[in-house]
Amino acid sequence: MKSTMHPVNYVDRTLTCDGVALADIAAKTGTPCYVYSAATILANYRAYDDTLQGIPHTICYAAKANGNLAILRLLAQAGAGFDIVSGGELHRVLKAGGNPAKVVFSGVGKTSEEIDAALAAGIFAFNCESEPELALVDALAHRRGIRARIAIRVNPDVSAATHAHIATGSLGHKFGVDIGQAEAVYERARHYENLSLEGVSCHIGSQQFDFDPMMQAANRVLELIAVLRAKDFEIRHVDLGGGLGITYRPDEPAPPISEFAMALREKAAGLGLHLFLEPGRSIVGNAGVLLTRVLYRKKSGDKEFVVVDAAMNDLIRPALYDAHHEILPLRATSSGCGLRADVVGPVCESGDFLAQDRQMPEVFPGDFLAVCTVGAYGFAQASNYNARPRPAEVLIENGAWRVIRKRETFEDLIKGEE
Ligand SMILES: *Cc1c(COP(=O)(O)O)cnc(C)c1O
Repeated sequence: MKSTMHPVNYVDRTLTCDGVALADIAAKTGTPCYVYSAATILANYRAYDDTLQGIPHTICYAAKANGNLAILRLLAQAGAGFDIVSGGELHRVLKAGGNPAKVVFSGVGKTSEEIDAALAAGIFAFNCESEPELALVDALAHRRGIRARIAIRVNPDVSAATHAHIATGSLGHKFGVDIGQAEAVYERARHYENLSLEGVSCHIGSQQFDFDPMMQAANRVLELIAVLRAKDFEIRHVDLGGGLGITYRPDEPAPPISEFAMALREKAAGLGLHLFLEPGRSIVGNAGVLLTRVLYRKKSGDKEFVVVDAAMNDLIRPALYDAHHEILPLRATSSGCGLRADVVGPVCESGDFLAQDRQMPEVFPGDFLAVCTVGAYGFAQASNYNARPRPAEVLIENGAWRVIRKRETFEDLIKGEE
């Protein structure tokens, strides 16, 4: 496997990804443009899958991290299942050839249409997040004359050390059923004839570096499973969610996937449970870069700005989560990092920045830059704000690259409007 940080490196001062010069892609596809490494995505998936060989397991890639059909297809062909959170994601997964029997459906607000579509598709299980949802799934399964497999998503009440917007596992968050109530909820759900209460699931948040909260959550879930089994519930699977962090800053390396998966394996092995995991970020995050072109340099007060053609509508993570992304010129200069600047986009918001006070090499209008580690929650959170067409997406696979999503056009922007 390549660098655990990202798959790009300089060859003769030219930034490359899996042997392809990124400047070539930028010139032919235009900017802004997302570029993903198939090899990195597969290596990340296999790091999970290989570590869990020998115990019953399914890696359900969290499609919300990056739902491009080509990426879903790549993972489906490698044997992955999928964690979905909407009917739209179910549609994408099925279109990409994903196996419905390896799909789990999470989310606090599933509509009856979405639940029914998932029943029709024959997904593996619903991760149910409330009692009214259990009642609805039961009623819809009854209408179809089938039994729906259920894991109740519990909130294990551990606090994950991560950004407040992406922590989900403490009491007071909207996700799951309080773990203290879970036993009673399973009891009350026992009478539903069209539900098969076979699993327990949890997911405590994203971009986590510290195993402790995740292991604590796993312990609590496994304790609950022991209690439920003692009360004659036939619990066959446990879903421990996603959440492993990735390296955004070179000096803050994330724990390797294999270590994380091994720790969970050690918890779940030997209990007669099929282990499900739902990683998103750690599968695709380090596999993507966003290519952008420098439009202008300007000064305001004592600040320097590098204005580029990518903006918060293309990549909202810096604005939304204070996220740090390394920014590299596609052509390395020998001048060192002599510039301290904000890298900003054209959107009319002061929050529209890709980096602030960044020490970086001198760059000039016309230069191309790569914003690193944007494979997860990058394009997935892109919007058309300021009537900006969403960027193209490119996949590098086996030394060749191809466009896997065309850049949107102005016609796309007004589609469906009167
Ligand atoms: C977002 C999400 C995931 C994936 O989280 P990552 O941090 O990207 O691994 C998994 N499960 C559920 C229920 C989610 O909402």
